[in-house]
Amino acid sequence: MFNRKIDKKIPVVILGATGMVGQRFIELLQGHPWFEIVALAASERSAGKKYSQAVQWKMSTPLSLDISEMVLLPCDPNMPGRIAFSALDSDVAGDIEKKFANSGFIVVSNCRNHRMDADVPLLVPEINPTHLNLVRTQKYGNGMIVTNPNCVVIGLAMVLHPLAAMWGIETAHVTTMQAISGAGYPGVASLDIIDNIIPFIAAEEEKIELEPKKILGSFHKTHIEPYNIVISAQCNRVPVMDGHMACVSLKLKSKATHAQIVDCWNTFQGVPQTLKLPSAPQNPLVYMHEESHPQPKLHRMAEKGMSVSIGRLRACPALEWKFSLLSHNTIRGAAGGAILNAELIVAEGLV
Ligand code: NAP
Repeated sequence: MFNRKIDKKIPVVILGATGMVGQRFIELLQGHPWFEIVALAASERSAGKKYSQAVQWKMSTPLSLDISEMVLLPCDPNMPGRIAFSALDSDVAGDIEKKFANSGFIVVSNCRNHRMDADVPLLVPEINPTHLNLVRTQKYGNGMIVTNPNCVVIGLAMVLHPLAAMWGIETAHVTTMQAISGAGYPGVASLDIIDNIIPFIAAEEEKIELEPKKILGSFHKTHIEPYNIVISAQCNRVPVMDGHMACVSLKLKSKATHAQIVDCWNTFQGVPQTLKLPSAPQNPLVYMHEESHPQPKLHRMAEKGMSVSIGRLRACPALEWKFSLLSHNTIRGAAGGAILNAELIVAEGLV
């Protein structure tokens, strides 16, 4: 268990505070035991407005008075705060995040821009906490950049990791069914997505095929040796509000039984569970035995949206095993995952 007492809450800012992920940050940080929101920032269009006037609040919990009265700032590092959670549009995130890191902020990002930089950890605390050491090779002084993987990849990598550690994985084929909130706000037009499935999400398949190699890779002092796996991905946008599903077929490097695989998932624990970090789910992976589970409407909020649900493990005639998985795209796949990353950064004494 992590024993350091947090006497004074760590001041945090949210960049891109008005978007789908920014709103989720605000919701999850309300009452957080270690972090306190001291500033909110968005585009020049929103800067200068009260938060309640600039945002289309889409969370199911009410917006608190203190947050609704905060005046949005432009994304300039001349603001108070130690940690900057970034939920920026990726068209602008790259340079803004560098500016904040250069000004001494610990940037914990959801954006794709720096994920594959050689000196930037692509962190999932249950899988690769040692990758955090990469920040020691960064050149930002007191600042740093740490990233979250893509919203499908987080759940996928969490499910693949225990299998890779126990038996090794040769190949995986992944077909996703991704929620509308994954496209940000206002997202996909209702006329495009109601009564429909769109078999294309820009640049998504490339991320799913690439990012797990870095996440599952091994840390060697100054760099990550990528994990050797071939992944083929096909991505679909489906008319679901929240929760990304993936159907996976894979081939392991050595033989396993059905019972061994299920047990391997159900007993999986990582550093966040050992340290009892505030946002850590007790069970990061939950195998469901009902034949029609998991389902987004029923299971996306498993352990407050931080657990990944798995089901339908069975033999695959083409590869070896196949199954379905579900994770919440704006909680475990974005804001919740980033907050867990920040908690690990604090626990590692980097703040
Ligand atoms: P979103 O709803 O479109 O929100 C984008 C945010 O970026 C808004 O706060 C917007 O502010 C701000 N922004 C846009 N242009 C800007 C500029 N020129 N300068 C400063 N701020 C600007 O997107 P989202 O879904 O929350 O996603 C945010 C990031 O997280 C993206 O990089 C996305 O790829 C990533 N991500 C999303 C998900 C998901 O499930 N949605 C999951 C994982 C990662 P204004 O309101 O002022 O325009």
